Amino acid sequence: MANKWGIPKGVEVAVLARDMKCIYCGVEFDSNRASSKSWEHIINDINIATLENIALCCVGCNASKGAKLLKDWLESPNAQRRGITPATLSPIVLRALAGN
Ligand SMILES: [Zn+2]
Repeated sequence: MANKWGIPKGVEVAVLARDMKCIYCGVEFDSNRASSKSWEHIINDINIATLENIALCCVGCNASKGAKLLKDWLESPNAQRRGITPATLSPIVLRALAGN
């Protein structure tokens, strides 16, 4: 499912091993549609296919974030309704925020 995004195989394998839950809300992935895993570009640029920018998040967060900038989305009521707080964010997200 990663290949349609042009994600290098090595990155795909490493991310699948690293992100065992949503990088935003922290939900454990399962077979429910909203909490199943989806490929995420933290910065919305498919040309940045690095371990720092490719991650797994739940379908619900992916749909909520859409094309919004990370910081704008995290501060939005939509993200807060999803229960997203600094404590639920994965280290990779915190690093992306620190780089902004
Ligand atoms: Zn999520």
